[in-house]
Amino acid sequence: MRTEPHVVIVGAGAAGIGAGLELAARGVPFEILEAADRVGGRALTDRAGLPVAWDHGCHWLHCADENPLVAWADRLGARYLRQKAQTCHYVLWSDGRFASEAELVEADQAIGRAFDIVDQAGAEGRDVPITDVLPDAGRWSPDVHCILGLLAGEDPGRVSAMGYADYADTDSNWPLTTGYGDLIAHMSHGLPVRLGVSISAIDQRPEGGVRLETSEGGMQVRGAIVTPSTNVLSSGAIRFGPGPAADLLPLIADVPCGAYEKVAFALRALPAELKGKLFGTFTPDGGASMNLQVIAGESPMIIVHMAGDMVRNLLAEGSDAMRQFAEDRLCQALGPDFRDLILGRAVTGWTQNPLILGSYSAARPGAAARRHQMIGTDTGSVAFAGEAFSLKWQATAHGAYQSGRDVAARLATHL
Ligand SMILES: Cc1cc2nc3c(=O)[nH]c(=O)nc-3n(C[C@H](O)[C@H](O)[C@H](O)COP(=O)(O)OP(=O)(O)OC[C@H]3O[C@@H](n4cnc5c(N)ncnc54)[C@H](O)[C@@H]3O)c2cc1C
Repeated sequence: MRTEPHVVIVGAGAAGIGAGLELAARGVPFEILEAADRVGGRALTDRAGLPVAWDHGCHWLHCADENPLVAWADRLGARYLRQKAQTCHYVLWSDGRFASEAELVEADQAIGRAFDIVDQAGAEGRDVPITDVLPDAGRWSPDVHCILGLLAGEDPGRVSAMGYADYADTDSNWPLTTGYGDLIAHMSHGLPVRLGVSISAIDQRPEGGVRLETSEGGMQVRGAIVTPSTNVLSSGAIRFGPGPAADLLPLIADVPCGAYEKVAFALRALPAELKGKLFGTFTPDGGASMNLQVIAGESPMIIVHMAGDMVRNLLAEGSDAMRQFAEDRLCQALGPDFRDLILGRAVTGWTQNPLILGSYSAARPGAAARRHQMIGTDTGSVAFAGEAFSLKWQATAHGAYQSGRDVAARLATHL
């Protein structure tokens, strides 16, 4: 007969692994139950789809000078670039041509100004859509919207400026060249993870303890740490019985995950216009901007990043529409010969993945205080962790990891 663990952690993403490492360090018996057939959640390094490995989800060690996962990367031999992107690393294409050096500086200043204004709005307590506080950036407005949309994982008009400004950016972002998904998977080695087991119901017993319904039967445990995305929690996929954990669900619904997907192109060689570049933004006449990451080296790649309604509208036509859109726009800017350079294509599917249902969390306008309340409320034997439960590192993998550690430490002292 199997001995029941004291604590069940629901989900083996960065938060679940962080929580597991904390409980292991404290000697609390636990088990991580993960519905998918792999560890990592939104941390996924794909080694099968293209000739080169690439990250579908997290890729950059954000706030790298403070990020606790940098130490893990060093310990486990993962590699990252301590890069600081300069204006000369960007390429902008709009009005049917590539921007000059002087225009790049102008665009960079417009983007910098936009972030300063959002921070200022946060400091002033302006819980309004980001778009309400942005000044007109003229020609660079689509670029500004695109960058803000990617960092918020959603159209800026649907995100609270005050909520966004809670993120404490240190402007230090290092790409993990060996893959963020691989790092999280390596960190999980030795932890008791059961894959392919989904939780469908969580009942917080008034007399103490927690009853879980899983795809492998019922379990009675002393505590649970719940880490699926806010969109999964709001979808009703897990039924919560009455109690303090269920009472948090209306707050969680106001901090939903947006839509953010990538289209990856493995190339024979980089087009001349992208040599020496790290990032680009391509904007067609009167259209929304599309951002791209340029990866040089023996196996070059372009990874296109798109967020918000642009993604939703394309996905409504099917995931190949997203690939086609990205490829057509690259050809528009780089010329039709670009297609001959493509060795392979792949797309992500976070929005439609039933275990994720979106990108990462952002407080709706008017709901900036909700994340504070979600983090500050002690829900007893059923605790929540994940990227949405981090304030200064919201929406990131290291924020999820740290939230898992913090919540596990709190629960362990309760038990
Ligand atoms: C396109 C994209 C790019 C990103 N880029 C970056 C970046 O560069 N840097 C960065 O720091 N962050 C980035 N992020 C954000 C980062 O990936 C996430 O914030 C982080 O990985 C979330 O971890 P988590 O543990 O909170 O949630 P998740 O990773 O979603 O983990 C939750 C787990 O719960 C499981 N689950 C769901 N339902 C059930 C159930 N009923 N029973 C059991 N298990 C269940 C899921 O399968 C999943 O494994 C990006 C995200 C996306 C989508």
